[in-house]
This record gives sequence, structure tokens and C-alpha cells, in this order.
Amino acid sequence: MNEIFSKYIIIGAGLSGLTSAFQLYKRGETDFTILESRDRVGGRICTHDGIDLGATWFQNHHEEVSSLLDELELQKFHQYSEGRSVLVYSTMAPEHYFQSDPNAPSAFRIAGGSKAIVEALATSFSKKIKMNTIVSGIAEIGSYLKIKTDRGVFKAEKVILTIPPKIATRLEFTPQLPEAVTRAMDATHTWMSNAIKVGLTFKTPFWRDKNLSGTLIGQVGSVTELYDHSNANDDHFALMGFVNEGLRDDSPEKRKKRILDYLIKYLGTEISDYMTYQEKDWSQDWNTSCEMIKSVYMSPAYGNPVFSKTYFNGKLIFSGAETSPKHGGYMDGAIYSGITSVEKVLK
Ligand SMILES: Cc1cc2nc3c(=O)[nH]c(=O)nc-3n(C[C@H](O)[C@H](O)[C@H](O)COP(=O)(O)OP(=O)(O)OC[C@H]3O[C@@H](n4cnc5c(N)ncnc54)[C@H](O)[C@@H]3O)c2cc1C
Repeated sequence: MNEIFSKYIIIGAGLSGLTSAFQLYKRGETDFTILESRDRVGGRICTHDGIDLGATWFQNHHEEVSSLLDELELQKFHQYSEGRSVLVYSTMAPEHYFQSDPNAPSAFRIAGGSKAIVEALATSFSKKIKMNTIVSGIAEIGSYLKIKTDRGVFKAEKVILTIPPKIATRLEFTPQLPEAVTRAMDATHTWMSNAIKVGLTFKTPFWRDKNLSGTLIGQVGSVTELYDHSNANDDHFALMGFVNEGLRDDSPEKRKKRILDYLIKYLGTEISDYMTYQEKDWSQDWNTSCEMIKSVYMSPAYGNPVFSKTYFNGKLIFSGAETSPKHGGYMDGAIYSGITSVEKVLK
């Protein structure tokens, strides 16, 4: 197979890798290649039929997301939350209703779905992205790095590695990385890699007609969280949320039935009139998750200092949401790490 040389190689076309590529491109550093195992860009950002099956929300303090949206001339909009929200806290007691405080800072969504940000980033350099290319090893050979993939060998002066650290332990590093780095990689949970999302689209937002916000918090039952997921123009209506992981081992048919029954009980029989139904269990996605996945609900500590150093004599740079000391695990952290890793590369 051919050996392809680029000055820079970015491994992973998620938000972090694409941000790095965008930064290089803007600086006139166009000699780069992006290697991506999936057949699409975005990684954990994945919008299908108007449903964000991966990342969705950001807040005011996620300044990197806001400024990147401004730069790409993309719009944000508020998460819809008008009306009564449902709280299911016990199997024995009836549901509770609560109202969101209209003065509390609400979360934002990206107009066009979260995929709008990754698609806009990739527009100018999409030809430099090699999809369906699985990286399996990185070796230091003198003044360059050799990257082993199932589509041949690539060489670069510098490599930005954005595969989540936990699953990057699958790669063979030659020479071996310091033990502290391997240990940190193995101990770094990939944020949300255990989540199961569900999304349904509807002809009309029937819940709004009942003065329901579409928000449902289920401390017990099949759906743990649900939100109105209609689009920014308010002409594509949807509900989206997280499925109780207890349903992971059910057959797809049984899980769907349990989800629908639950939503019918708390939002109404109109749930059965959905136009499309989608689920994504991220724990089953090799590109994000691994066999050793544990359920984690609180954002763990991210940005282990070992990831801020460079390796292989300055040629290997770790990047990605989980390596970021700022808002680690989130889209904001992915962008921050994408920007700072380019500063390291160009030093
Ligand atoms: C269900 C879910 C909900 C979320 N909700 C939110 C939210 O509301 N708000 C928020 O801020 N964040 C949220 N996140 C987190 C957010 O998605 C991430 O912070 C961000 O997308 C990470 O970007 P990244 O580029 O660092 O990593 P990734 O998106 O994981 O990108 C890494 C890339 O590397 C590729 N790759 C993996 N292995 C290989 C290999 N061997 N060879 C080549 N390529 C490889 C992957 O395919 C992927 O494209 C959510 C995530 C999930 C899964």
C-alpha cells in the first residue's frame, strides 16, 4: 500500500480534530490530512433526521462554542421549556409537575442541529479527510511519525491524536508511552459513551397544546430525561431524551415498546402517532466506546496534566474533549483542546 506524507496528521474528525484542522487552515498551514474511522465527520456529534443523537446543549459559560458559532455564522436558540414539566419520582406515587423558572439561564441549542457546527468546520478542507480509515499504531521513526492504518501507512512531522484516551489505548505506540500516560488514558472515562438516546418526530407539537413543555425527568422508568427537540424554525417537531440503561439488554422491539408505553402514560396517546423513531446506544459504537464501559452520570475530572505535554520529542500531541482542562468532556472542551493543540504544533 502507498505511504502518504503530510506535514501534520490529525487523527479523528470529531469536533476537536475539525477545530484543529480549521485553525491550521486559517493560518495557511494546508499540508494536513485527517484520518477518521467512521464514514462521516462529527464523532460524538451526530444529528439524524433533526435529532441530535449525540451532543446537543451548551450554556453561556461555554464561550468557545459561542465564539466558534459566531465565527462560522451559525445561530443558536433556547431550549424550549414553556409549560408544565413532568417529574416521575416513584412507581407508587403519581407524577409531579413543575414549571421552569423563566429567569433561570436556559441551555442553548445549535440551529440546524449540532451537526451544523462540524459540517461548517469541514467545508473548506473536506477533501483532506480520509474516512473509513482505522488507525492502529503510531511509531516514532527519527524526525517523523509513522501512522499504521487499515488503509496503508501515513507519515507526518507532527500528529494530533483526538481519539478519546480510553479507546486510544487500543493503539500500539512505538516506543511505548510513559506508564503514567497509559494509566491516565485507561482511567479517563469517555464522556457519555454509556448513553442511550431516543428521538421521535411528530406532525404537531401535541404536548404544547396540553401546556406541557415536553420535559420529563424520570427517576424511575424507561426514560430518564426527555425534552422538546423541535427545530429553530419551529416547523419540525420532535421529542428527544435519554433511555434508562436498564433497557440496554432488552430486544430492540421490547425496548421500543417499553419506551413508548412510558411516554404514552405521561405525555398522552398521541405519542403513538410519531412519524419517525430513532435510538442510539453509544456503548455499542466501537468508535466511541469499549467493552469496559461503566455507567457514569456525573462529569468526571478531565484534563489530566499528562495530556498537556507532548510526546515522541514534541511530535505527538494529545487532544479531544477528555484531555481538556477547561470544560472537559463537553463540546466546549473539545474546541478548547483543538485550539490549544494547534498552538503546540506550531510552536
Ligand atoms: C449521547 C451524548 C450526548 C452528549 N451531550 C452533550 C451536550 O449536550 N453538550 C456537550 O457539550 N457535550 C455533549 N456530549 C459530549 C460531546 O459530544 C463531546 O464533548 C465532543 O463531541 C467530543 O469531541 P471530540 O472531537 O473530542 O471526540 P469525538 O467526537 O469522540 O471524536 C473522536 C473521533 O475519532 C474517531 N476515531 C475513534 N477511533 C479511531 C481510530 N482508531 N482511527 C481513526 N479515527 C478514530 C471517532 O470516530 C471520532 O470521529 C455528548 C456526547 C454524547 C455521546
